[in-house]
Amino acid sequence: MIYNIGEKSSLVNQFMSEIRDKNIQKDSLRFRRNLERMGEIFAYEISQKLTYQSQMVETPLGIAQVPVLSENILLATIMRAGMPLHQGLLNYFDKAGNAFISAYRKYHKDGSFDIKFEYLSAPATDNKTIILSDPMLATGSSMVLAYNALLGKGTPTYTHIVVLVASTDGIEYLKKHIDMTKVSVWVAAIDKELTAKSYIVPGIGDAGDLAYGDKE
Ligand code: URA
Repeated sequence: MIYNIGEKSSLVNQFMSEIRDKNIQKDSLRFRRNLERMGEIFAYEISQKLTYQSQMVETPLGIAQVPVLSENILLATIMRAGMPLHQGLLNYFDKAGNAFISAYRKYHKDGSFDIKFEYLSAPATDNKTIILSDPMLATGSSMVLAYNALLGKGTPTYTHIVVLVASTDGIEYLKKHIDMTKVSVWVAAIDKELTAKSYIVPGIGDAGDLAYGDKE
């Protein structure tokens, strides 16, 4: 199932217009905060698909029956670009476990690249509902690598993949390489084009650099 939350009229596209705008992007504090705000919105949207059980809560004046989340949430992200989005999700799923995956593009002289996986910090994923976030889904290969790394830690109940901008190629890649009966993909926009270096067009640019500065 693919959910595009940018298709409805809401503040989502106000935030996305700022995230995409090359002038507003120069304010990296605002860029990070906008990614975090999007994480909060995704958290709320996903929360409507989760399961709840009634709990009795003692108020100063009596007892209230309140449905509370009954799923065991694990938030996972791909460093470093995913961190502000992850923080937004964590602001709402504040009792969730956390997993961090380090993956990067190692470019060859001809401009092609391999995804290098370096580090996974994660609890067991058995019986968890995973929310795996990364702002950009370009080729889809680092997302599949991250998902498989989490499957190496156990058998989750279900996984929600969260991205701000997905390419159509990236979505097709996920559909080919992931069992989509156990995964939903949440996006705020789908862009059609990829550059020769696999950047999304119009996209937003390099999300990691925009949030945290240049790297070598
Ligand atoms: N990663 C980014 O940060 N931007 C893209 O367009 C693609 C991958």
